[in-house]
Amino acid sequence: DPMLRLKGIEKVYNAGQKGEVRVLREAGLEIGAGEMVALVAPSGAGKSTLLHIAGLLDTPDSGIVEIGGEAMTGLSDRRRTVARRREVGFVYQFHHLLPEFTARENIVLPQLADGVPRAEAIARADELLDRVGIAGRAGHRPSAMSGGEQQRVAFCRALANSPRLLLADEPTGNLDPVTSDTVFETLMDLVRGTGLAALIATHNLELAARMDRIVKLEQGRVVAG
Ligand code: ADP
Ligand code: ADP
Repeated sequence: DPMLRLKGIEKVYNAGQKGEVRVLREAGLEIGAGEMVALVAPSGAGKSTLLHIAGLLDTPDSGIVEIGGEAMTGLSDRRRTVARRREVGFVYQFHHLLPEFTARENIVLPQLADGVPRAEAIARADELLDRVGIAGRAGHRPSAMSGGEQQRVAFCRALANSPRLLLADEPTGNLDPVTSDTVFETLMDLVRGTGLAALIATHNLELAARMDRIVKLEQGRVVAG
């Protein structure tokens, strides 16, 4: 089984009303373990909708969503939330770290919410910070870190609960080109090292070309880029 499987995904906003928008039509995508796929699409093409459906934040009108071979469609809202917290990590252009907490605490908190014992959560946070090369920043708050460091912490937080799927929207979009490049390398190492499936939306074609594969959205379908 692929780590992520989307099949026949349909999504219409304002169905049957004025302003009806058919965003996804028969959209399908499979991503394997350790595979990093770039999603390149113009604004308005349905990128956020696709990421939200893959990430269990939203449900399709019809179609199949599977993560790790398990069906994620047809779950109650509560079960979908539980599945999302366990199976999906999110990274955005802006890190959204909690400003009053340290780097370590920002990575510990989602684990506590998932029922991980505190000592184990701290060990996991420190291991992740070490893997992204900023172990020495564990006790710093976001405001005391550079943009690249903050984004590395955001990667660690996204991976804290060992998800099977990583979804990112312009993960280096807020960084200068040089920092963006090294932070992206870190992200690639993390994905390859953990064997999760990653779908990364980006307008940066140079970064897209370094991923395993590029897909685009055309008329609501996912097509090879
Ligand atoms: P992208 O992320 O590629 O910019 P979106 O998935 O956000 O695209 O949106 C795709 C289309 O669906 C756009 O035309 C947008 O206006 C419309 N859309 C998105 N969300 C909603 C919503 N909640 N209600 C109505 N239309 C929406
Ligand atoms: P909640 O407490 O609202 O159920 P979580 O805290 O479990 O959500 O969120 C899990 C992940 O989903 C977080 O990384 C968060 O960034 C992302 N997320 C939650 N809600 C949204 C949303 N409406 N749009 C985009 N991302 C979201």
